[in-house]
Amino acid sequence: GFKMGIVGLPNVGKSTLFNALTKTAAAQAANFPFCTIDPNVGDVAVPDARLDTLAEIAKSKQKIPARMTFVDIAGLVKGASKGEGLGNQFLANIRETDAIAHVLRCFEDGDVTHVEGRVNPVEDAEVIETELMIADMESIEKRLQGLSRKVRGGDKDAVQQERLLKAALAALEEGRPARSLEIDPEDARAWSLLQLLTAKPILYVCNVDEASAASGNAHSEAVAKMAAAQGAAHVVISAQIEEEIAQLSDEEAAEFLAEMGLEEAGLDRLIRAGYALLSLETYFTVGPKEARAWTIPVGTTAPKAAGVIHGDFEKGFIRAETISYEDFVALGGEQAAKEAGKMRAEGKGYTVRDGDVLHFLFNT
Ligand code: GDP
Repeated sequence: GFKMGIVGLPNVGKSTLFNALTKTAAAQAANFPFCTIDPNVGDVAVPDARLDTLAEIAKSKQKIPARMTFVDIAGLVKGASKGEGLGNQFLANIRETDAIAHVLRCFEDGDVTHVEGRVNPVEDAEVIETELMIADMESIEKRLQGLSRKVRGGDKDAVQQERLLKAALAALEEGRPARSLEIDPEDARAWSLLQLLTAKPILYVCNVDEASAASGNAHSEAVAKMAAAQGAAHVVISAQIEEEIAQLSDEEAAEFLAEMGLEEAGLDRLIRAGYALLSLETYFTVGPKEARAWTIPVGTTAPKAAGVIHGDFEKGFIRAETISYEDFVALGGEQAAKEAGKMRAEGKGYTVRDGDVLHFLFNT
């Protein structure tokens, strides 16, 4: 599955946010068969109203949402790359994530200590980014040394890795994160295998006070500006409100949100923003037993999409009977869509589209 690491300085609201994410009714209800793996890792259902609609039409007994994993990564402080705080251990945790949700303190509260003694989310972001950049530079230098023999021996992979690492190092030495580089498609796989910390896509999470949850505040506006300048995404939420909402039933939560002037829970926006950040999309399988959402990267072909369900589906792939979400809903289900000629037989070269309702035929 796809993994978002929650990072940020101490006392910015990471744990509050993580608890809210993993305690919502949706997270709990959908918690089989994975459930919370460890106190800092939680599986969260990806909210998608389309799944409810499809399940209703098909009278599916069960609804199984797509899932995303969140990891609460504590221990990032100034000097972390030099072993301060939890030091290098958490850097390894970040390496394993697909993207980073960077929580920034955008609330004033004299009772909650700020490690730097002032509330300034833009500078906080720089503190963390600097640590990650230093960590990347150190790991690149080590890896370049490790590669040199293979490169001299003419090993093609090693030559490619060296070229990419040197490009990243040059950017970092100019004070730019590795994600600022444009990577050729043919280098994309090798690049992602390098697992550079500053190459991971970033979503800034502005944790604002309750009163600013709907409007944002001056701090979150400063973050929005910074994010825009970097081409990064940001969301404004109040972790405390989210934690309260997480305890409520769906009806109570809707009422509470309306009172606060919010259209939907911040967590839903956060999860969807994470989905977009990772260029993910959803296809569905729908039947009387269950309606289920599956996550794939944008641009995935039908056999690869089938492989998300089971490796055998990919290996023995014959075709995918395909109905678009819009047709499925407008015509009122699979049978009707089929009769209207809206079920397409798609072969190996088909690129799955967001919302497709698929039924795979395969050889065993
Ligand atoms: P972490 O160290 O980043 O995981 O931060 P925590 O989630 O443990 O939060 C640190 C402290 O800040 C806790 O006492 C929280 O209750 C408090 N806190 C978190 N979010 C908010 C907020 O939006 N407003 C206020 N006033 N306090 C908050």
